[in-house]
Amino acid sequence: MKSKRVLIVEDNDLNRKLFENLIGQLWGYESASNGKEAVEKVKQSDFDLILMDIQMPEMDGISAMKEIKLLGKTNPPIVAITAFADNGDRDTFLKQGFDEFIAKPIRPREFLEVLERMIQGGRLESANPSEEIAEMDKILDLSVVKQLMKYNSPKIIRSVFEDFIRESYRLINESQAQVKANDFEELAKTIHIIKGNSGTLGANRIYTQAFNIEKQLKDNLTINFEEKIQNLENEIRSFQDFLKEESNFTP
Ligand code: MN
Repeated sequence: MKSKRVLIVEDNDLNRKLFENLIGQLWGYESASNGKEAVEKVKQSDFDLILMDIQMPEMDGISAMKEIKLLGKTNPPIVAITAFADNGDRDTFLKQGFDEFIAKPIRPREFLEVLERMIQGGRLESANPSEEIAEMDKILDLSVVKQLMKYNSPKIIRSVFEDFIRESYRLINESQAQVKANDFEELAKTIHIIKGNSGTLGANRIYTQAFNIEKQLKDNLTINFEEKIQNLENEIRSFQDFLKEESNFTP
């Protein structure tokens, strides 16, 4: 049954777990958490497809893709996966040597469709499925949950959301310490993880807050980050309360 094998390369733990859950429904897989590990895995065994995150520590996805292509082994399709890119970015990735490109946050059904097509050797010329624009004022994008439920048991989905909440609080603690230490570089990294996680799970309001803080950090604005992070924590708490309401979230 699961004769095809996928290599999942992703540094974000929650994203990686999500990809493993989805991909594991259809194919066998191995995982790596940076480009260097990925190159080693490809040297050791053959894969039918490689899913490659772009921003990673140690070795980024573009360098890893290039090294893997240079190995001249079985040459499986390599699919780039990255946050909030558009059609223009897709062309850039294809020019660099990737075989396909998927934007995060993913839509599970489209995600698996693209991988399935690639694993079967298909190469559609313009393969950007029309993306639904999330209703950003909603606390949880229910279409994300609906999609997750097609491929995962309620138990897994619940555990993914619970992990997300737990991880979010941990990251909030970290970011509070980073504000106190005036370490805005590390703070940006922490907020970036919260942004990525919330985007993946359709936690819209958390995402919007994290997005704004990250942007303000990038723009070097001198604002009260302590207060911003407090607001972000409040949003996480609201989200946690929302999940407790069985009528809102019933897998
Ligand atoms: Mn990454």
